[in-house]
Amino acid sequence: MIRMTESFELILGNEVMARSGYHPVWFGHASMFAAGDTRTCECGSVNCIETFLSKKGLAITYCDAQQKNWKAMSASETDKLTESILPAITVGLVEGDAEKRRFWDSVLSRYMLHLKYSLRNVGCAYLPSEIIIKGEIISSLPQLKEKIRAFFEQIPQQGRHDHYLHWLAGIVCTIE
Ligand SMILES: [Zn+2]
Repeated sequence: MIRMTESFELILGNEVMARSGYHPVWFGHASMFAAGDTRTCECGSVNCIETFLSKKGLAITYCDAQQKNWKAMSASETDKLTESILPAITVGLVEGDAEKRRFWDSVLSRYMLHLKYSLRNVGCAYLPSEIIIKGEIISSLPQLKEKIRAFFEQIPQQGRHDHYLHWLAGIVCTIE
């Protein structure tokens, strides 16, 4: 099991890990390339996976899309936004008008781009034979779950053109 963040888990299974009994490995603070985004982490490093794929990471992606200066927010403001982000997206995607739904969809698409790069950066190193994706973000956001499912479905076609993702073709991926 590779725990990437508190609210997002990517479980990569392979023989090496099976022999070790799937001991959890914490990958939240592995740095990743992030398509031009730069986020300083509380640990002092830059672009740690948890600054993108956790609930807080999603909240920051929302701020970027709104051009809100999240760096100027206090810790309690950030915590409040982090706790409100999943309900806000759910309501926005279900009850919002067309413009709102497009906006929230674009926030999720940016999250997907970050997930893709994290897979390229971390998953590529492990060459797993199976992947399980789960966590609060996935279980609370059916629309994101659908995007991830669609992403894995198109890998056999797209993976041929993406050297860093072609290892995903043929892998059994479960999204819980
Ligand atoms: Zn960190």
